[in-house]
This record gives sequence, C-alpha cells and structure tokens, in this order.
Amino acid sequence: MDNSSAYKSDVSNPINLVVIVPVYNEAENLRALAAHLIKAFRKVEGVCWKCLFVDDGSQDTSWEVIEALSSEDSRFQGMTLSRNFGKEIALTAGVETAQDADAVICIDADLQHPPELIPDFIREWKKGYEVVIGVHGDVEDYTLIKKIGSAVFYRIINQFCDISLTTRGTDFRLLDKKVVRTLRQFSERSRMFRGLIDWMGFRTKTIEFNAPARLNHAKPSYSYKKLFSLAINSITSFSLLPLKLTGYLGVLVTTLSSLLLLVMLTTQIIEWQVYTVQAYFVVFITFLVGIMLSAMGLMALYIGHIHTEVVGRPLYIVREKTMARSSD
Ligand code: UDP
Ligand code: MG
Repeated sequence: MDNSSAYKSDVSNPINLVVIVPVYNEAENLRALAAHLIKAFRKVEGVCWKCLFVDDGSQDTSWEVIEALSSEDSRFQGMTLSRNFGKEIALTAGVETAQDADAVICIDADLQHPPELIPDFIREWKKGYEVVIGVHGDVEDYTLIKKIGSAVFYRIINQFCDISLTTRGTDFRLLDKKVVRTLRQFSERSRMFRGLIDWMGFRTKTIEFNAPARLNHAKPSYSYKKLFSLAINSITSFSLLPLKLTGYLGVLVTTLSSLLLLVMLTTQIIEWQVYTVQAYFVVFITFLVGIMLSAMGLMALYIGHIHTEVVGRPLYIVREKTMARSSD
C-alpha cells in the first residue's frame, strides 16, 4: 500500500493498465461489462486504463458492438481474429498487443468475473505482487459434471505434472509487465494460458470471489468437448506421465512373468508340477509384451527430451536486476 503513493503523486506519468476481454458471441453482455468497468475504475486513482476486446471469431454481432463502443469512448478498443481460435489464444493475442502497459487484467465478458474486484487487484499489485489471481469460491451455474471434472483435473495436474496450478484459479488475473514480457518468450502452440503463468512463478496473490451465473443465460460457450481437450492438452504439455505409466506397467509385467516362468521351471525340474507347452507359451508371450511396454516407457524419456527442446520454454526467468551506476 505504502509505495502506491509514489504512483499516485506522479500525475504526469500515470500507470497504464489494459483490461483484456476475450469475446466469443457475447454481444448482449459487452455494454453491461463496459459500464461495470467504468464504474470500477472510478474507484482507482492515478491510473490510465484501456479495455481491449479480443473478438475470437464471434458469429453474433459482438464485433459491431465493439466497434460502436470504441467509437463512443476511446478507452474501448478492439481487435477481431479471423476465426474462433479458442480463449487461450484470444488471451495470448490480447496480452501480446498490450506489451506497453504497466499491467494487464484479463477478465471474461460474461460478468462471471466481477469487475468490482479490479481496485483490489490493483491494490495488491501496488503492494508488489506481480500476478494477482481471482480464485473461485463457488460457481452458481456449474453443473455437477463440471465441478467433479475440475476437482479431478486439479488433482491429476498437481500430483503428476511439472507445475502446481492454483486450485480453482481462474483466468481473471492481473499480470505485471514483467509477466507480460516473459509470456512473449513462450512459443508453444497448444497452451493453457493460466498453466504457463503459474509455471513462471513470480510473486502471486490470490483473491477469492463467488462467480455469479453467466449474464446472458445462454449455454456457456465452452462445451464439454472443448473443456476435455483443454484438460488433456494441459496434462500432456506439462507431463509425460501417460507414456511413463506404460513403461512402469511394462516393468511390472516383465518382472511378474519372468518370476512366474522361473517358478514353473523349478517346480517342473523338481517334479512337483507338470505344465503344458501352451502354458509356457502364454507366459513367454506375456513376458515379451512386458518388454515392449518397457521399451515404450524408455522411449517416453527420449520423447520427453525432444518435447522440452521443441517447446523451448525459457530456462529461467529473471525478476529484477540491479542497474549499473552510469556516473562512476
Ligand atoms: N471465449 C473465447 N473463445 C472461445 C470460448 C470462450 O474467447 O472459444 C470467451 C468468452 O467469450 C468469455 C470467456 O472466454 O469471455 C469465458 O468463456 P465461458 O464463459 O464460456 O467459460 P466459463 O465461464 O465456463 O469458464
Ligand atoms: Mg463464463
């Protein structure tokens, strides 16, 4: 809080904030969102803000509404993508366009992310947090399947993947310019926006909120199919666990079948039991299957190396450096 006064007093050089809104068929919600944003920013001093709508190939009149809004009020701007690329890409496009801002705030267009929280986000940012994340308390219109799916997803990803995702974290977040610049170094194509940000680290603060139902009560634009593929994408881009599991299974099968083969041979030699040729054949085939599965697990390790190289994430991320004094 205290260092915020430094920002406030410097009226000639206000803080530049850009609010990024991914938009897919949200024509009915945009004006309401714009009104909420204007109201929310009235409570914040010393900030020069803009709102960038990223129209993700909407089929309704969203783009016309965005054009109208931007001609009425220069704080509202928009860009439209050539087709529907998905929210993750729309957010990336928005963040890349807002490179010059001191911070960006990503927010959904359906008012499920309450703009009233923006002053709190900015307050935390001014305290020195580089990422401020809105965390779901409860979501009124999430179905049971969505709730269970989300719980299972966070369990798997936090247990087995390289990152720990903020549980119930949303895309409603404020990102400092350091984070925005770092994001540019990521070139991976299948991406989970919030996963990448959580992977980066940085000083993070969470703020809990209860998401109201979608403003226009149309079906949420994220279908189960899209959500499922997003979950699979996130798990496979942060972990090779599925492939490694095959390897572990292979080692288990090989060990068990060779033990069984050994037991069969010894009992036959000391003439306790007699086994048919078919029995030996079945156990031997199982042994070979085990070897093949283990080989696949081994391949996973190599694919893992290739994956790391191809994705080309930055090796490390620098938060700050001291400046060399020029007067010396
Ligand atoms: N969205 C988008 N592209 C898509 C799907 C959604 O830009 O392909 C936007 C949508 O307009 C909204 C936000 O992403 O602003 C969240 O979408 P939705 O409300 O459907 O997701 P949920 O609230 O279920 O997470
Ligand atoms: Mg929503």
